Amino acid sequence: MKAEIISIGTELLLGEIVDTNTPYLAGQLSVLGIDLYFTSAVGDNMARLKGVLKQAWDRSDIVLTTGGIGPTQDDLTRDAIAALLGEKTEVDPQLKQGLINFFARRGLEMPASNVRQATLIPSCTALINSQGTAPGWWVEKEGKIIVAMPGPPGEMQYMWENQVLPRLQERTGAVLLTRMIKTFGTSEAKVDEMLSDLTASTNPTLATYAKLDGIYIRIAAKAEKKEEAQKMVDSREADVRAILGDIIWGVDDDTQEAVAGKVLLEKGLSLAVAESFTGGFLAHTLAADANSAHYFKGGLIAASSEVKVALGLDPKLVNGEDKAEVARAMAVLARQKLEATVGIGIEGEGHSEPESGMMAGTVFIAIDSEKAGLHAVQSYSGRLYQMKRRAAYYALFDLVKLLRA
Ligand code: AMP
Ligand code: MG
Repeated sequence: MKAEIISIGTELLLGEIVDTNTPYLAGQLSVLGIDLYFTSAVGDNMARLKGVLKQAWDRSDIVLTTGGIGPTQDDLTRDAIAALLGEKTEVDPQLKQGLINFFARRGLEMPASNVRQATLIPSCTALINSQGTAPGWWVEKEGKIIVAMPGPPGEMQYMWENQVLPRLQERTGAVLLTRMIKTFGTSEAKVDEMLSDLTASTNPTLATYAKLDGIYIRIAAKAEKKEEAQKMVDSREADVRAILGDIIWGVDDDTQEAVAGKVLLEKGLSLAVAESFTGGFLAHTLAADANSAHYFKGGLIAASSEVKVALGLDPKLVNGEDKAEVARAMAVLARQKLEATVGIGIEGEGHSEPESGMMAGTVFIAIDSEKAGLHAVQSYSGRLYQMKRRAAYYALFDLVKLLRA
């Protein structure tokens, strides 16, 4: 089977948004073992959209589209597919009622334009969109398939996972299972090198991805039966764990904040943070965990020396050169002032690199806890923007390691 992806929306061509749907779907197709030969982006223009769809229909077996199925005038995907196949769109009463109910639950009346989202053509079945209003289309004709999905990445991915992927797996006659292993603190090149004996395998496959919260390794196994694929994934995961050991912090949907939260809760601990330099990224990351109310007490954010002094730090220390010492003092301050059992302090410094003109920096992270005392400061250097965003993950990774030690 040859596949092709079309992302639809003028905003994609204006450089206003980055197309994240195409790489997501491309990754999924490769895992499925479906060859992807073409990807394209097209604006909200009927003639050009029809042209791209026609070309895809002629040369590919599966065409995946995202975008252009909303209720507004510029949402043309349905009409373009209908025109391509020479079919007429008709309002489906059940879909229409579903939309009316969706709005009613929010105390609203369905805008008349939304009825466009309740249309179908004879060759298509609707793909339920539990995340939004626009149902997708699964179109089958002459042995070929077109799948039209919503543009918003969250809605698209949900529909893909729950409606499209299972249907495609039925077609390919194989069950495909994946597991994402998440690591932190080791470079992608190094992880790749460590796993080099395993990466040559074609089933299960292994692929690495660099993310803000670490290097991910995806294991994918294909088999005729689910149990068989599961066994392959489990056994390969054991191989990977034996090699990578404690740089692994989670799997699949795990987040570092949730993992850290779980450890804190297990040990009956509470956490407070004091941040300079990162402007609250750590507090922000912690707050993203749905359980954080049970262990995260809060955070102090100081950008200027005056605020650090006002919060209770020694002026001589604050204005001195030793940033590592400031991070330590901030960890202690957070723990004491916010009455937590664990405190994390973050301090940092930035400078522009004369050669490249880029901003680089060093982040200092300290952890203060009853059991471990004041944990040696970790410091990391790198590009300023990334350092600031990543500091939260450095801190959480170290925290988990320290608490589990
Ligand atoms: P649409 O369904 O075309 O009206 O798209 C709705 C919204 O989804 C757009 O305004 C974007 O924010 C987002 N979106 C659409 N297509 C993509 C894409 N290929 N990648 C990322 N976001 C997208
Ligand atoms: Mg659009």
